Amino acid sequence: MGLLPYKNEPYLDWSDESNQSALRATLEKIGGELGKSYPLVIGGKPVETEGDIPSVNPAKPSQVVGRVGRATEREAGMALDAATRAFESWSRTEPESRARILLRASGIMRRRKLEMISWEVYDGGKPWAEADAQVAEAIDFLEYYAREMLRLKDGVEIYSVPGEESRYFYQPMGVGVIIAPWNFPTAILTGMSSAAIVTGNTIVMKPSEFTSVIGAKVAEIFDEAGLPAGVLNFCPGYGSEIGDYLVKDPRTRFISFTGSMKTGLRINELAAKPNGQPWIKRVIAEMGGKDAMIIDDSADLEAAANDIVRSAYGYSGQKCSAASRAILHADVYDEVLGKVVEKVRTLRLGPPESPDVIVGPLISEPQFEKVSSYVEIGKDEAERLAGEDPGDPDGGYFISPTVFGDVDPKARIAQEEIFGPVLSVIKARDFSDALRIANDSPYGLTGGVYSKDRDHLELARRELRAGNVYFNRHITGALVGVQPFGGFGLSGTDSKAGGPDYLPLHMVAKTVVERF
Ligand code: NAP
Repeated sequence: MGLLPYKNEPYLDWSDESNQSALRATLEKIGGELGKSYPLVIGGKPVETEGDIPSVNPAKPSQVVGRVGRATEREAGMALDAATRAFESWSRTEPESRARILLRASGIMRRRKLEMISWEVYDGGKPWAEADAQVAEAIDFLEYYAREMLRLKDGVEIYSVPGEESRYFYQPMGVGVIIAPWNFPTAILTGMSSAAIVTGNTIVMKPSEFTSVIGAKVAEIFDEAGLPAGVLNFCPGYGSEIGDYLVKDPRTRFISFTGSMKTGLRINELAAKPNGQPWIKRVIAEMGGKDAMIIDDSADLEAAANDIVRSAYGYSGQKCSAASRAILHADVYDEVLGKVVEKVRTLRLGPPESPDVIVGPLISEPQFEKVSSYVEIGKDEAERLAGEDPGDPDGGYFISPTVFGDVDPKARIAQEEIFGPVLSVIKARDFSDALRIANDSPYGLTGGVYSKDRDHLELARRELRAGNVYFNRHITGALVGVQPFGGFGLSGTDSKAGGPDYLPLHMVAKTVVERF
């Protein structure tokens, strides 16, 4: 296939009035489509369910964005059946044809970009630039995995002994259950699904209950791209109602999960138990983080403060990669902290109705309650230097950007994933102390170092225990194909989405030797 070289999808320029008015017009148009119902789609056919899942606008919880079917074990079983049937032919479909479907889905998503951004704003409460970056990331996954499949379609070179030919190539695995979180509902759902599909597997797609409408839109795009019936079965439902069933079922060959540590560990445990299936289920799991940025005494302090703020508060800190700990060298502690607090006070908090809103709402009432409780814990454990007590959630799930200073590295707010706009600032004696504090976490997703000291950077390159380490820049917004993403420790299986090792996780490798 003659494809252009891979290139990341550019972001829209929100200082351009024409982009602003185009999005405003699309938001208005999509506003007229709110409240609709979306059925499950199993084997290419809509399936109505008895109950439904209402998805609300987190900036205005009284506004129902849509109602999505609510699968029970019955429908989840139907979806596994449909996926099992479709695997027979899809697994034998040429890799080029499978890759073309992804490229077509990418084209559709690019054409529908403003619409997808609008759904992100309504369903996910995303500020505009964040929503745009997410849709761009989804497009990137489609483009990158299509090319990756073409690279891998004939396997990889190995050696042969004289008189023989040894071949090493990949085959599809079977039925995959795709379980996605709400925080990157377009990008992660598209990424996990497209990787599974392009490698010849069929899937049961379960979006997060909080962003199920976006899930319906993603499924719709794959359908429009020409994916045969049964390859993608759209099966929204509550994780608590159908999650265990899907994971345990013997028809499931693998589970691709992104979400919290708690759920990921449960899935890993349940998947490991034999249940009559003639295989060991594979689990690809990307989980939480407690990501740290270290600032040493040689750093550009202004740039460091800017990037701490950007990494901690973009999308209200609801990113697995978000900086939730800033570890500052004692000699620069006061200066960096002062700058961070000053910058945090200028961040605009509110409904994502204009491009200057950086901190939008939290996704849901449970998330609002959880983060609010950590603000209370933080007030006991440390000194609050920015942020106010949360208001009434009926007016939107807003929590102001919060900074806690002089945090003990062992404090709960320094150890537990809060997943909100809350930063714990910790003082370190020196660089080794900072590194030790950063590594004192069960997680290991992202990490950053601001320093001009080569020895410090090289030490951190080796010793900072995180799957994605960034020097002298922000630590969020991993680009597909450029910053393959995945964590160490209890942050997951280090599967590096958007990287060269990702697609093989969805296939079995086969060695065939022929003697001549
Ligand atoms: P979550 O509560 O673990 O939910 C994730 C998904 O799992 C949802 O679709 C959920 O369904 C489902 N689920 C719940 N219980 C289940 C069960 N027993 N079996 C199977 N599935 C089940 O996580 P979240 O709150 O959506 O997402 C935030 C978390 O994701 C954070 O910890 C964040 O760090 C992590 N994250 C990690 C990455 C990464 O790449 N490492 C990226 C993004 C997010 P329901 O929605 O119906 O409950």
